[in-house]
Amino acid sequence: MELPGQRALDVSPVDDVSVPPVVSLVLPCYNEQEVLPETTRRLLALLREWIAGGQMAPGSSIYYVDDGSRDQTWALIAGYAATHEEVGGIKLSRNRGHQNALLCGLLTAPGDVLISLDADLQDDLGAIPQMVCQYRAGSEIVFGVRSSRACDTWFKRVSAEGYYRLLALLGVQVVFNHADYRLLSRRAVETLRTYEETHLFLRGLVMQLGYQTSVVEFERAERFAGESKYPLRKMLGLAWQGVTSFTAYPLRIITGAGVVVSVGSMGLAAWALFTRLFTDHALPGWASVVLPMYFLGGVQLLSLGVIGEYLAKVYEASKKRPRFHVDRVVGAGFKRRVGA
Ligand code: UDP
Ligand code: MG
Repeated sequence: MELPGQRALDVSPVDDVSVPPVVSLVLPCYNEQEVLPETTRRLLALLREWIAGGQMAPGSSIYYVDDGSRDQTWALIAGYAATHEEVGGIKLSRNRGHQNALLCGLLTAPGDVLISLDADLQDDLGAIPQMVCQYRAGSEIVFGVRSSRACDTWFKRVSAEGYYRLLALLGVQVVFNHADYRLLSRRAVETLRTYEETHLFLRGLVMQLGYQTSVVEFERAERFAGESKYPLRKMLGLAWQGVTSFTAYPLRIITGAGVVVSVGSMGLAAWALFTRLFTDHALPGWASVVLPMYFLGGVQLLSLGVIGEYLAKVYEASKKRPRFHVDRVVGAGFKRRVGA
């Protein structure tokens, strides 16, 4: 099944903001059977409230992306779509990871405005009307930013802080304490569609768009049920994408280190020559030979590794493989859109 990925770029600015927009809430789900009933119950109730209150236009929807779940996630989504016209869903043929699933949702969801959020109710739903308000005030990208990290483990707090600092140091633009809870205008999504990166780090990518942005703060809750689908391995993978997709600085650090070590070793050689010719000191023992050897071996291996990582990225990107394949779509209005 082909997605309408080649659609012409819509470059018109935000449509008439005096009327409430049609909003699609995009939720990637991977093995989320424990939380989906509650998430759907709460979102449906709120969506109807927001539409009745004039904050959103009728036709606003909840759009689930099943990222190749192995549990009952898809059966639940299909059930909700069959009984509620506000709910639609798209199923990827296999697990492609959160960022790819999210991109698929953004590229196929209907709506003038798309809001991405996690399925586990950690993102405070109360921030959604505020995001829509910011949109109507002219912002095309609204970042949901965590006001505190109180409910995180010590490890996550420290590693997140360190990571954001590292990104800033390397010159990668991201919003501190913002993950993937954000509003995008239709125009922002259509612009995002033109980016063909294989390795996605959406929170960095949206910073490239350049449209007007704003921030809405929210308090992040504990996961409603089930376990995190972001184990340490996936978290480190995403962190690494964040660095390597946006800066070649690590390669430059290696070059810099190479220059420093080379100049240093020339100095050392000069000093050795000097002591040999003009003094009668005993030459240093094996430590001065063996230690630098191991040290430089380590530096070289590490450098090769970093260069190899970038090379691997080029290799992956050169294959130009699709980032996801769609298996099924549910929900009448949604099927028509994806061409299913
Ligand atoms: N997710 C996904 N594919 C994956 C991993 C996660 O679609 O391979 C979804 C998951 O269902 C959730 C969101 O991404 O809706 C964030 O994951 P999670 O809440 O487990 O991450 P955490 O909040 O623990 O960092
Ligand atoms: Mg979560």
